[in-house]
Amino acid sequence: MSFPQPTLELDRPGGRPLPALVDPFARAITYLRVSVTDRCDFRCVYCMSENMNFLPKADLLTLEELDRLCSAFVAKGVRKLRLTGGEPLVRRGIMTLVASLSRHLKTGALDELTLTTNGSQLAKYAAELKSHGVERVNVSLDTLDPDKFRAITRWGDLNQVVAGIDAAQAAGLKVKINAVALKGVNEDELGDLVTWAHGRDMDITLIEVMPLGDIGGDRLDQYLPLSIARARLGERFSMDEIDHMTGGPARYVRVKETGGRLGFITPMTHNFCESCNRVRITCTGTLFMCLGQEDATDLRAPLRASEANDLLYAALDEAILRKPKGHDFVIDRRHKRPALSRHMSVTGG
Ligand code: SAM
Ligand code: SF4
Repeated sequence: MSFPQPTLELDRPGGRPLPALVDPFARAITYLRVSVTDRCDFRCVYCMSENMNFLPKADLLTLEELDRLCSAFVAKGVRKLRLTGGEPLVRRGIMTLVASLSRHLKTGALDELTLTTNGSQLAKYAAELKSHGVERVNVSLDTLDPDKFRAITRWGDLNQVVAGIDAAQAAGLKVKINAVALKGVNEDELGDLVTWAHGRDMDITLIEVMPLGDIGGDRLDQYLPLSIARARLGERFSMDEIDHMTGGPARYVRVKETGGRLGFITPMTHNFCESCNRVRITCTGTLFMCLGQEDATDLRAPLRASEANDLLYAALDEAILRKPKGHDFVIDRRHKRPALSRHMSVTGG
C-alpha cells in the first residue's frame, strides 16, 4: 500500500535548491527526529507514568501529512531522518510512511532513514524496514534480567525484545543499543550489558535520565550521573576515546577488552548543545527547536492551510531563527519536578 506523493521542490527535476536551515549560532539543521505517535506498548518508569493521557487520535497528523512535512525538511537540507515516538512501530500503517520516505534515499536527497524503537515489534517489521533502505536501528534495552525488564518497562517482555533484535540482525540491520543508566536499578549491570552488546557486534550507548514529564515519581531516585558509571566501567574495561561521530550527541570510547564502541550521552553532566544539528517534530506537527526548551512552532496550520509548501517553508525559516543556544536541565534536591512538562514520548528521544 502507498499513498500519492506530493511534488516537492526536490522531487522536481531542475528544481532550485531552497535556502538551508541555519540557526543564529551558525549550526546547520541536517537532522530531523519525528515522533510519529505519542503512544507506546510499554510504560518505562523514567519515560511515562502508568496512567498516561494520550493525544486524541484526531489531533494526529496523517501519514500523508507526516510524509509531506518530513519531505519539506528534506527539501530544506535535512539529510537524516529518525522516526521515533512513543513507539514508532505501533503507529498503524507506519510501513507506508517508511516506504514513501525511502524515495528520498533513492534520489540521494537523504543520507539516512532510521528509527529508535523499544524492539517489541521488530520481529514483525525488521525485514520490511531493511527492504525500504533502513540500514540501522537503535533499540532501547536497559537490562538483561527479565524481572527487572518488566519492572522498568512495566508492560514489556524481554524475550520479545531480544527476538526483535535477533530478527533485525538476521535481516541485515545494524543495531545499536540505548540503555538509560538508572540508580539502584541497572547500575551494577552496565558492564554486563556492554559485554553482551559487543559480543553481538552492537554498539551501545548509555544515557542519563532527563527531567522530562511527570512520571509519578522522583527523578532524583533514578538519576545516575554517567561520570560515576563511567568511572566504574573504567575499573573493568580499558577505554580509549575515539572520534566516532554518528550525527548524535554521544561521545564514544573503544573498549579494549571487547573491541566494541561504547557511547555516553550526558545531557546533565556535560552539555552537548554546541554541536547540535537537529530539531524535532511531534505527531501533531509541533516543531521543537530544542529538546530541553518549551519554545515551539506549530507546523500543522501552515501545512493544512495550503497545498503548496510556501507557508511551511516560511514557518521553518522563522522557527530556526529562534533555535536556542542550549538547554538548561538540572536534577538536584531543589529541582525534583520535571524541568519540562512534556514527556520524552511526545518529542521523541
Ligand atoms: N519507544 C522507543 C524507545 O524506547 O526506543 C522510542 C522513543 S523513546 C522516548 C526514545 C529514547 O528515549 C529511549 O532510548 C528511552 O530510553 C529514552 N528516554 C525516555 N525517557 C527518558 C528520560 N526521561 N531521560 C532519558 N532518556 C529517556
Ligand atoms: Fe515507550 Fe520508549 Fe517511553 Fe519506554 S522509553 S515508555 S518504550 S516511548
